[in-house]
Amino acid sequence: MQSALVIDDDPLFRIIAEETLRAIGFKSVDLADDGAAGLQQLRARNGGVDLVMCDLNMPNMDGVSVIRELGQIDFNGALIIASSEDLSLISSVRTMAQLVGVRVLGALKKPLDENALTAMLQNQASQARRKSELVTRHMLKSALGEDLIQPWYQPKLDSRLGRVTGVEALLRVTAPNGETLSPEPFIFAAERDRLIGEVTNRIVEKVVADLGTWSKAGFDLDVSINISPVSLDDLDLPDRIRAMFLAGGIDPRRTTLEITENRFLNHDANVLDILSRMRLAGFRLSMDDFGTGATSMEQLRLFPFNELKIDKSFVLAACDDEFSRTTVETGARLAAMLGLDVVAEGVETPEALKLVTQAGAGFIQGYLIARPMPGDALVGWMRTCAVKAVAAAA
Ligand code: C2E
Ligand code: CA
Ligand code: CA
Repeated sequence: MQSALVIDDDPLFRIIAEETLRAIGFKSVDLADDGAAGLQQLRARNGGVDLVMCDLNMPNMDGVSVIRELGQIDFNGALIIASSEDLSLISSVRTMAQLVGVRVLGALKKPLDENALTAMLQNQASQARRKSELVTRHMLKSALGEDLIQPWYQPKLDSRLGRVTGVEALLRVTAPNGETLSPEPFIFAAERDRLIGEVTNRIVEKVVADLGTWSKAGFDLDVSINISPVSLDDLDLPDRIRAMFLAGGIDPRRTTLEITENRFLNHDANVLDILSRMRLAGFRLSMDDFGTGATSMEQLRLFPFNELKIDKSFVLAACDDEFSRTTVETGARLAAMLGLDVVAEGVETPEALKLVTQAGAGFIQGYLIARPMPGDALVGWMRTCAVKAVAAAA
């Protein structure tokens, strides 16, 4: 990201925001003291601004009206809401912005914290980079054909038991030069080219084999598998996954299927059909990436989830940013009311661990415990590192 526009009536805030954005590496930072002036600047630049940071409470034209306009002019950049209003109001506006089609990077409660802003922008930058690495249909086909796709595993700590009881399977691709590639560009391409079903089959097949191997070595671990929301129109999916588990002699009840909240939640008969049959087959269901979509209590009630997984972007920023911390706490409280397990992902520091545990997360995933690793490294890690990693984190 290169260019930013700060819309805020507070002159001191504009100065601080400009300094912070320049320190982070923005080449051009424009300033506007109310909504109308901001939109005028945006039009003068033909909408060509990478980031708009907007206040809510301003004279003349408020932030909500600015955001509505951003939706109408097909603004392609990203939005950060920075406000001193209370968090429930900021959160409503954030949801409203997503609904009118504006890409929201996050919401920050004033005063501006440079660490929180940097974390938000870095998270975005790495996501954008990963998505933009184009994977062609041919590359995808050959990755499948040459068996270059495999799951890696990230340990998951049960904080009440104080030990690692499960893992999340995360797709990795081996490049021709032997390098290991991250999943997002492949998932994106597989969804686009309608090959996601094949990719999921491959992952499930390998997970089932690995579970069998670990079991023989004395480790009966729970496993979580990511399911693309695009697959929720594939009515055969529940039976197919179940059959693979039974063929491998593995009980589906040790397995959680994670489905991201940010794209699928339309109240569609097929979605409810598929999720219900996954549950009937014995799988648990997790709502993944909590906080990035517009989940309501209603939706959590409607869909048969067992677990809520708080997105790492909030966990990473929770120690520095009030909005992120509140999202973590709200997720945990919502889950407790509905009797769901809570997982916090992206726990990198002892401070974050303390914060999410106090909020009520019973399960912890993050670099503090371990990074994802290949399946054949996991037994070794469980034998020699798991106890140490858990003790060090405690
Ligand atoms: P996700 O499901 O939200 O997975 C968590 C991501 O956070 C993983 O990235 C993991 O490596 C990373 N992570 C875990 N702990 C930390 C931490 O402490 N700090 C930081 N900075 N990151 C941490 P990864 O492996 O790159 O996966 C990215 C996404 O790709 C996943 O996000 C998931 O949405 C998707 N994905 C991965 N495997 C599959 C798959 O088999 N099927 C589908 N449909 N999607 C997959
Ligand atoms: Ca996940
Ligand atoms: Ca996530």
